Amino acid sequence: FSSVPHRLGFGSANPTGKIPLGLKRKGLRIVVTGGAGFVGSHLVDRLIARGDSVIVVDNFFTGRKENVMHHFGNPNFELIRHDVVEPLLLEVDQIYHLACPASPVHYKFNPVKTIISSSILENPIDLLFAFNFLFVSLTEAGARFLLTSTSEVYGDPLQHPQKETYWGNVNPIGVRSCYDEGKRTAETLTMDYHRGAGVEVRIARIFNTYGPRMCIDDGRVVSNFVAQALRKEPLTVYGDGKQTRSFQYVSDLVEGLMRLMEGEHIGPFNLGNPGEFTMLELAEVVQETIDPDAKIEFRPNTEDDPHKRKPDISRAKELLGWEPKVALRKGLPLMVSDFRQRIFGDHKEGSN
Ligand code: NAD
Ligand code: UDP
Repeated sequence: FSSVPHRLGFGSANPTGKIPLGLKRKGLRIVVTGGAGFVGSHLVDRLIARGDSVIVVDNFFTGRKENVMHHFGNPNFELIRHDVVEPLLLEVDQIYHLACPASPVHYKFNPVKTIISSSILENPIDLLFAFNFLFVSLTEAGARFLLTSTSEVYGDPLQHPQKETYWGNVNPIGVRSCYDEGKRTAETLTMDYHRGAGVEVRIARIFNTYGPRMCIDDGRVVSNFVAQALRKEPLTVYGDGKQTRSFQYVSDLVEGLMRLMEGEHIGPFNLGNPGEFTMLELAEVVQETIDPDAKIEFRPNTEDDPHKRKPDISRAKELLGWEPKVALRKGLPLMVSDFRQRIFGDHKEGSN
């Protein structure tokens, strides 16, 4: 690692006077790892619409070709089936690193692989290094790596709502640790690459996000409730249903990620909707939206389930000029129409 000027935390990430990316907007080449997944595919849509060239790197563990196939044939779009734990050299300007199993069911499926794919950042960052090394002009343009971390770094939080300055309350040996600790390690590595090698980095801490193209059976609460209500099955509430989460619509998240990538601040930034709901309240919203007669069935809760979660987004408001626009009661119907079409089969995939 060379010694380069840097600043810590959410200070300016551009201390060397490089030209901000926002001023050189046209024609960037951008890698989105995990771009065939739920969030990644919506991000890809926005980047392509903006005129950038996008390379999706995905191993299809939870992602689907259907999420991005509407871009097939577009010369600005490429899809590479690849596992990010293996090396890959690409010439790029920006990397959005999303590849990682994200739902508890999926990340617990192969926990060792989860901690490796969330925390082993050398390969995604090496993409950046390769290009920096070969094309010095890229460094001048300010090549950037954005990590999608998670509200899970706060664990079962003792501070409420959670600010970015809170260090969290995480069980290091629990069943969720592969994800929580994997992302915490990823944040550490990202900052160490920044401090040690001068890589321009951004860190987003994403709170629970929902919307079209979520995996239908990934076990997350919003996708479970929506699919269950549509299938006329009972809504499965785990525990007493009094635990809380804050649900963000996917377009708000994508806007936040792009502002973070283009802006001057490293983060970490909480990206989430501060509207806080108990799981019982969420079930009520799903009943109102889909089926007022949907029954509720209580099930035992999962181990180490955080009791509450709500982002303090003051930092993102102030430094990114960002806040969510779509309330749960507005966003849920948009997701429901996508789920209805996918479950009952009258849908052109990827069209949302
Ligand atoms: P997703 O499962 O829909 O997408 C993840 C994508 O990564 C999938 O396409 C999957 O196939 C791919 N992937 C997984 N492991 C890979 C590997 N080793 N190599 C290549 N590709 C791989 O999940 P999502 O909800 O879109 O989440 C995207 C990112 O955002 C994840 O990093 C997740 O941790 C983070 N995040 C999401 C939420 C949320 O509520 N959706 C909340 C916090 C953080
Ligand atoms: N949950 C629930 N019913 C379900 C799935 C999840 O009540 O069918 C609860 C789960 O116990 C947790 C909350 O919903 O308290 C959010 O779970 P999810 O897996 O969506 O996200 P995370 O726990 O990662 O925030």
